[in-house]
Amino acid sequence: MTQKAQTTMPTDRTDAFIVLTREGAKLIADSTITAGGINLRYASVSDTYIVHSIEKARNTWIQADILRKFTALRWNDTSHVGQWMNLASSDLHLHHLQLLRRPGTAIPYEAFRAMVPGVRDPSTGLGLLISYASDLDPQLRGAGASEFAGWLIERDGVRLVQIAVEPAILGLDHLRDHWPVDLLASTSIMLVGCGSIGGAAAQALAAYGIGNMHLVDPDRFLWHNTVRHVLGPESVSRHKVDALKSRHQQRWPQQNVTAHRLDVVDDVHHIRPLIDTVDIVPCTADGIAPRRVVSHLARRAGKPAVLACVLDHGSLGEILRLRPTPRYGCLLCSRQYLANLGAIDTEADQELDYGTGHTHQPMTAIPPDLHLIGTLTAKVAVATILESRHGDHTQRLPGEHAIIGLHPANNLTAPFDLTHTTDIHWATIPPPRSACPTCNPTSLK
Ligand SMILES: [Zn+2]
Repeated sequence: MTQKAQTTMPTDRTDAFIVLTREGAKLIADSTITAGGINLRYASVSDTYIVHSIEKARNTWIQADILRKFTALRWNDTSHVGQWMNLASSDLHLHHLQLLRRPGTAIPYEAFRAMVPGVRDPSTGLGLLISYASDLDPQLRGAGASEFAGWLIERDGVRLVQIAVEPAILGLDHLRDHWPVDLLASTSIMLVGCGSIGGAAAQALAAYGIGNMHLVDPDRFLWHNTVRHVLGPESVSRHKVDALKSRHQQRWPQQNVTAHRLDVVDDVHHIRPLIDTVDIVPCTADGIAPRRVVSHLARRAGKPAVLACVLDHGSLGEILRLRPTPRYGCLLCSRQYLANLGAIDTEADQELDYGTGHTHQPMTAIPPDLHLIGTLTAKVAVATILESRHGDHTQRLPGEHAIIGLHPANNLTAPFDLTHTTDIHWATIPPPRSACPTCNPTSLK
């Protein structure tokens, strides 16, 4: 579209909205003049005016850059000229607050002009003003007023326009008062398996604020993966670890992600030293061998592991936390204990190769069910870190072994005998078997 500048705007809009970036707000706040012009881009699709440049000094216009990632703020159809004013008092913003509470009302133009000398006459059209109250009365602020206010000015009345100012604090820093942001930013995780459960787990780990993440998976992302995975069609043909890394770099740029196109079983000599550098090892890889290798290596490295999967055609989820203490055994110790109870052989179930689309195994697990297990896996991993490293007792888990009902068929023996969807059955796990080569430190490695 053309960039034709207009000094008037359509008058029939009630949902108009102004966006002022942090840089734009700073240009107004730091200006040496008390009033000047603003250039706005208008995006008709969202009825949004985006402040694009500011008259910072008389006849000196400075562009308020909009970062590429804020895609919708870069849309625009036309340009408009408006006005900004730095007000000596908070009075006008009290009026703004009052108008905000009485939608549909307006201030008579002459009354507004008396309060704000210097406001431009909109003539027969519509003017746009951003007022800035640098010394906003704290009481007004407490009542919901803000330093910046937007106004639509017509001869037959002045109405408010909502204005959103980009805040100084963005991202995880918002959580700082309620969440151990720094501790988690210094935490390292190795996530083994970047399929549907792993991709969702990676996303949740990033959103919890895990600062360093090693992704381990040898596979490529292909067409049949798109239905279940957090990755989309844009990633088809890429290695899952590389595509996830790209996604995280864009969405959580503060996180360090390292992509390893490795198979945890075949490339064990690469994995072993890596485990020494991380705090915890969530494993969402399919199959008996990868889970056994993670259980063994993590135990030997003295690191906790969290093994997650779906069982019985996706009817149940399972999360098994393995902590390297004398109280808890490894994966094989836990499975032997269950076998003695007569439970199903869950490791054999793992070999069914869920969701790969191979002919011997139909795709049965439902995408959000897998994401639920992935998110819960991340929660278990983060809770384990916070409880052990941070002493945070609000993050204590009820046990080491969770069975989650997704669409339970109620045809399995305990502890897999859930009857309802979203049921979570937590249990402890047995101590190491005396002859276990993984748990017994005197056994061969
Ligand atoms: Zn063991």
